[in-house]
Formats: sequence, structure tokens, C-alpha cells
Amino acid sequence: MNFELSDEQKMMIDTVRRFIKQELKPLEEEVEEKGFLEKAKAEVIHEKAKELGLYAMNIPAELGGGGLSAVDRILCEEQFGHTTDILIRRAFGNVYEPILECRGEQVARWLTPTVEGRRTCAIAITESGAGSDAQGIKTHAKKTDTGWVLNGSKHFISDGEWSDFFLVSAKTGEKDISMFMVDKGLPGFTIGKDQKMMGLRGTPHLELFFDNVPLEPLALLGAEGQGFKLAMGALNVVRLAQVGARAVGKASHVLELMNEYANERKQFGQKIGDFQMVQQMLADSVIEINAARWMVIHAAWMIDQGLDARTHIAMVKVHAAETLGRVVDRAVQVFGGMGFCKELPIERYYRDARIYRIFDGTSEIHRTVIAKTVMKKGAALFELNR
Ligand SMILES: Cc1cc2nc3c(=O)[nH]c(=O)nc-3n(C[C@H](O)[C@H](O)[C@H](O)COP(=O)(O)OP(=O)(O)OC[C@H]3O[C@@H](n4cnc5c(N)ncnc54)[C@H](O)[C@@H]3O)c2cc1C
Repeated sequence: MNFELSDEQKMMIDTVRRFIKQELKPLEEEVEEKGFLEKAKAEVIHEKAKELGLYAMNIPAELGGGGLSAVDRILCEEQFGHTTDILIRRAFGNVYEPILECRGEQVARWLTPTVEGRRTCAIAITESGAGSDAQGIKTHAKKTDTGWVLNGSKHFISDGEWSDFFLVSAKTGEKDISMFMVDKGLPGFTIGKDQKMMGLRGTPHLELFFDNVPLEPLALLGAEGQGFKLAMGALNVVRLAQVGARAVGKASHVLELMNEYANERKQFGQKIGDFQMVQQMLADSVIEINAARWMVIHAAWMIDQGLDARTHIAMVKVHAAETLGRVVDRAVQVFGGMGFCKELPIERYYRDARIYRIFDGTSEIHRTVIAKTVMKKGAALFELNR
């Protein structure tokens, strides 16, 4: 086993780290204060990031993307965790994997412009009545002579305001779910309110309403009835990269700040880092982050080997999200009153961390998946020689 990073990987990480520090970090405060990112500033970071060649890095190079392996991608995603969601979306893009199902005319209309950053898409699965139970959706599409007619609604759709089209899951039969590419501006498609959240300031989360929206046959992504599989396949990768790896990055970032503070802040005539109870918070954080990081890398490696990483990703989702929660909680404690005060970003990191245990499948749902796999296949499944 060789755990060493190649020179190319080290260079890639340094490039992303430098870009985030120089171009994105300075915008964080403003986004937090205003609650949005200015369009002109979004364009600047988008253009600069594209020059680095990492836009749409998850998409194969032959389709115009970055062509990164799963391991290389998560090495970048960990760095992305060092800044806020909306800045990463605008700079590096958020090209959801189901779009790779585009064929024929769909490629020029939806896939290529998205990979090139000329169009943006969001994924719309959740409804007010169907969250964890993603198969319990009510949105449905009925076949007509000219295509489909879409009816229903979605909520909590991240990045909806910036998106030009949506990957929408809809029932196309009693049990069948299909996925459609639904352009903004179609008749009967209206955008509802921006649902204000505890954290992730600057990223809009929208309601979508479909009232007899006419869809052409071309709007169907992948095969009819395969939408649930498509969505779940895509979310698997999203969970590993955008939740697992970013949670590790966020926790590492917070730990760096916690460590600096423990070394600087003095009480009772000595550094607070000299107190064993503070040391324990640092030590537990380092241990847990390190474990989460290796779980992320291992699951990514499995993907690159063509192995089934679903249960490993579920474990990553739970462990990385919960590690982040514990680390930011300790950070508030180590910073004392300054951890709670808005003069420092610690309280923001605390708020932003909470959603990691909820979106892309809650901790409870993933624990259920893990337990079912263990019970069916045996605990030895996770030993390395199996
Ligand atoms: C900020 C944010 C961004 C989001 N972005 C998107 C997006 O871009 N696109 C999209 O489609 N969705 C998005 N979502 C939706 C998100 O994925 C769901 O909120 C999540 O899947 C949970 O669904 P729910 O909120 O309906 O909770 P519910 O499913 O109602 O769950 C409520 C509670 O019940 C528990 N529970 C439910 N079922 C079980 C079970 N079988 N066993 C044990 N416990 C259970 C849950 O774990 C949870 O604790 C976003 C949500 C938020 C808050």
C-alpha cells in the first residue's frame, strides 16, 4: 500500500488551497453580511477558477470536464471545505452526475453548456411531503402526444436562483420515477420563495412549482422509470465529495483556528492550550478528523477501482458529518465567548455544520442502510481481505 501523494496531486492541492485563500476567503464576510453573492463578483471567481482547469472537475475530460479520478476529486473537495458553499459553486461549478446520461441532441443543449459553465443546473428531488422517503414524491409527469406534462412541487432546492435548469424527479407510473431536465421560464413553471436557513448564507434554497408544464420528449434524462436509480447514483458521489470530503475540510479548517487560539490565548498566566481539558478537545478533534479523512479516501479509491462503495459512502456520510459537528462544537468551547460572538467566524462554522447530518440522507437513514448491509452480508464485509 502506498499512501504517498504524487507531485501532481500535491501541486493540485496547493493550487486549489491558494486560490481559495486569495480569491474566495476575502468574499466570505461580505456574503455572510449581505446574504448573497454579487453577480459581478461571481463572474470574476468563475473565470479565474476556469483558468485553473478545475471547473466541472468530476466530468470526464473528453466531455470537457476536469477528468479527475475520484481520489483526486476528493483531495480538491477537502480543500473546498475551507470556504463557503456558494463561493465553491460559482467558482468550480456543481455539475451533477446524472447529466452524463445526456445523449444525442441533449448533449449540445444541456450537457456541454453546463460543463463549460455557460449554464447551471440544480437537482430537485425533495418535496414538502417527501424527504428521506424520496420514492414517496407526488410530482408526476404524464405522457402526451407531444412529450410530457409535469405537475407538482419541490422544496429546499439548493442554488435554484442561479440555475438555468433543474434535474427533476417525477413519477411516470404507479411506482416508476423518471428524471427530467426542466428549463426555467417554461410555461407553468414558477419559482417560490427562498427558504431562509440557519446557515449556508448566500446559497438560495428555493421552492419550485409545476402547473401543467409542457416538456418535450428530449427533456427525459436517461430511460423512463430509471430516475430514482439515477438520482441515488448521483447522490452517492455527492455524499462522498460534497458532504464527506468537505466536512473533513471544514473540520480541519476549524481545527487550525482552534489550535492557533489555544496557542495564543492566555488565562491564569499561561496558554489555554497548556490546560489538559483544552488539549483533550484538540486531540479528540485530530483523531476523529484523521479517521474521517482516511474513510473518505478509501471510499474514493474503491470508486476508482470500480468497486461497490455504497455502504462505505454511507459510513463516510455519517462519520464525517458527525465529526464536523463535534469539532465545531469544541471550537466554540475553546474560543469561549469569542466562539459565540459574531466578530469571529466560529459561530458561522457552527451553524453551517449542522446541515451536514441532514442533507443528502440523514444520519438515521444512512445508519439504517449500513445496519441492513451488515445484517445481510456480515460484518466481515468491511475487512480489507474480503
Ligand atoms: C440546506 C438544505 C439544502 C438542501 N438541498 C437540496 C437539493 O438541492 N435538492 C433536493 O432535492 N433536496 C435538498 N434538500 C433536502 C434534504 O435532502 C432533505 O431535507 C433530507 O433528505 C431530509 O428530508 P426531510 O427534511 O424531509 O426530513 P424527514 O425525512 O421528514 O425526516 C425527519 C426526521 O425523521 C427521521 N427519519 C425519517 N425516516 C426515517 C427512517 N426510516 N428511520 C429513521 N429515522 C427516519 C430523519 O432522520 C429525521 O431525523 C436540502 C435540505 C436543506 C435543509
